[in-house]
Amino acid sequence: MRLKTWVALGLSVVFLAGCGKHGGTGGIKIGLSLDTLKEERWQHDRDLFVARAKELGAEVLVQAADSDDARQNSQAENLITQGVNVLVVVPHNGKSSATIVESAHKAGVQVIAYDRLIRDCDLDLYVTLDPTEVGVQQADYAVKHVPKGNYVLIGGAPTDNNAVLVRNGQMSVLQPYIDRGDIKIVTNQWAKDWMPVEALKIMENSLTKNKNQVDAVVVSNDGTAGGVVQALNEQKLAGKVLVTGQDADLAACQRIVQGTQSMTVYKPLALLANKAAELAVAMAKKQPLTDKTTKLNNGKIDVPSILLPTVQVDKANLDSTVIADGFQKKEDVYKK
Ligand code: BGC
Repeated sequence: MRLKTWVALGLSVVFLAGCGKHGGTGGIKIGLSLDTLKEERWQHDRDLFVARAKELGAEVLVQAADSDDARQNSQAENLITQGVNVLVVVPHNGKSSATIVESAHKAGVQVIAYDRLIRDCDLDLYVTLDPTEVGVQQADYAVKHVPKGNYVLIGGAPTDNNAVLVRNGQMSVLQPYIDRGDIKIVTNQWAKDWMPVEALKIMENSLTKNKNQVDAVVVSNDGTAGGVVQALNEQKLAGKVLVTGQDADLAACQRIVQGTQSMTVYKPLALLANKAAELAVAMAKKQPLTDKTTKLNNGKIDVPSILLPTVQVDKANLDSTVIADGFQKKEDVYKK
């Protein structure tokens, strides 16, 4: 073998050794543990996150738990066993997933909560599109268009901390209207696991109970807004009652164009996924965090958090936001 080849081989051995568990530019493994891929958004989150991490030279191992706490815990254990350097978690259950953080820390692996906070543990970092602001934007839209009347509130999964933050944001806007007696909350419920069918049932019952006298439905996401619109449709009320949402799902954008859903909150997922991937890789390389953070208390500690902005969207600015960004395609949204 020629000298040059020996040198090249020798270098590659050194290079590989340098890419061990905690260093080097290559060899970084990130674990991404997702609650679900059910809502359209999570598939985008996964694809964007994996692509950005790859660009930065990291490999991503992805698991999705189908809304099952035990499964998410064991999948996370499995990722830790496979030697991930950093674990990024979208928890199904904001409380019980604290055990994931504990196990990771025992193995020397830091954890980033993605989109949803993990409560009551020493979480290392939280990156999200500000859920409180999502709630503010939904309720702000509702009171501007329906300043008086009967309101139905349908929150998300009670096990998801985001559902609580979104509701807090909504109430910060609605409370003065309620106190003045302008707005009456006739139904206030939460949809298990953000399931559209749960929202459908809640809305059907509310319409029956209130003899169809409902003026606005503050729904916390687009999936559940779909269930609400179905219930309104059954009573020939779709398009006559204000309905909010969040995510800018394709079906929701189509409903906005058709007039059966009034608004959504657009969350530019690329902002979140890119930021989280960059931070995960930096964390794996033991680089200090240079981003500006705010503190969010998770019941145990103040977690350094990055809260990214969201956009209030209705028929008037759908084209200049969701479509202009390439988040949804014009031909799909306006498809007859
Ligand atoms: C997310 C929403 C999503 C919902 C259901 C929330 O935690 O912030 O964007 O619609 O979960 O998956």
